[in-house]
Amino acid sequence: MKVAVLCIGDELLKGAVVNTNLTYIGQHLLTMGIMPVLSLEVPDRPADVTEALQYAMNHADFIITSGGLGPTADDLTKQAIAEYLNCPLELDPRAEQAVRERWYSLKRGELPLRFLNQALIPHGAEALLNECGSAPGIHIRTNTTPEKHIVMLPGPPAELHPMFDNQLLPILKAHLDNRLHTRLFHISGVPESRVEERTIPILESHPCLSVAYCASPEFVKLFLTSPDSLCVESAEQAVRKEFFMEMLSDGASTVAAEILHLLKERGATLALAESCTGGLISELITDMPGASAGYLGGIVSYANEVKRNLLGVSEETLRKYGAVSAECAGEMLSGIVERFRSDCAISVTGIAGPKGGTPEKPVGLVYIGVRCFEQSLVAEYHFRGSREQVRARSAATALNTLRRMLRGEKL
Ligand code: ATP
Repeated sequence: MKVAVLCIGDELLKGAVVNTNLTYIGQHLLTMGIMPVLSLEVPDRPADVTEALQYAMNHADFIITSGGLGPTADDLTKQAIAEYLNCPLELDPRAEQAVRERWYSLKRGELPLRFLNQALIPHGAEALLNECGSAPGIHIRTNTTPEKHIVMLPGPPAELHPMFDNQLLPILKAHLDNRLHTRLFHISGVPESRVEERTIPILESHPCLSVAYCASPEFVKLFLTSPDSLCVESAEQAVRKEFFMEMLSDGASTVAAEILHLLKERGATLALAESCTGGLISELITDMPGASAGYLGGIVSYANEVKRNLLGVSEETLRKYGAVSAECAGEMLSGIVERFRSDCAISVTGIAGPKGGTPEKPVGLVYIGVRCFEQSLVAEYHFRGSREQVRARSAATALNTLRRMLRGEKL
């Protein structure tokens, strides 16, 4: 099946909104073995929408659109597509009821006509009810040969995500012909180029396998795809063997999630002493639901007096070695463990830049301390990149080090 994605909205082209809908759609299609043949970002102009639709229909048989379904004047997706397909818009009774209920639940007085316009659906199309917003989605089966599917979804991610999962995926599954089999692995602490190198022999012994990589500071995502299920199964075993230590466990899609799982398994607790990461590690941990089961909290000790007063870093250490030193990271680590009485801890101190570096202590120099029960270590890193990258890499490295220690690796 060939899928095209059209993300509609001027705000996307202006760069005012990041196109996270495409990320969501792309990632979730991939789990079904589908990679879109094209995606376009389209302005809120009917002529542009129809031109994009025409292009998509020439290249794909399943077209997903996001945005432009709401009640405001710039929401023109439905009108443009209905006109292009020559389908008059009609009030859909189910959609009308849902739109009315939505309006009255908002307690905003009389229902305005433009709000009710959201219940207009192209003749012959199916309304996809929206439980998280007001604009219904729409599923059109064209009367062209071959038949094409157009599924329109609302733009707000909080509405698109559940509609994608609950309404669009079942439609897709029902019409899937040439299914691809896929596997996704998260490999942490190995650079993308190394993952690629180590995957080459697996690719060579599995000729009908395709591999894709996607790198972030936290891990490399490794996707295996093949129309042959046996080929994917055998490649999966080979990948598991090759990346046994570096691979996140099944079910964990972030390093923080795996850490929380490992902490829970051992009934252990974690505390953080962050300096240059300024709470980033805490955010990554608390992004995970249920983080309170293992995470106690932390101290963002940015200033020296906070390192001294709240973590007990000695005046002498700060004077003799400086705040960015292995000694300071070590004392931050023991300080946080002592104060929070945690089983595990992380400390981070470094120079994120862009200013503040010296020849002896350049930008990107970071010391990370990790305690996992009785085992403690402090290591020096030199991260390259912008302030944001240095901070992200520091957080990712700290978490990955703790993950490896919790898994019993001797570092
Ligand atoms: P609404 O009822 O809110 O008008 P809609 O379907 O008309 O819904 P849009 O008006 O196109 O959607 O977008 C609403 C908001 O959704 C945008 O302001 C933006 O914040 C967000 N949004 C739209 N498209 C995307 C996208 N591709 N990725 C991420 N966010 C998006």
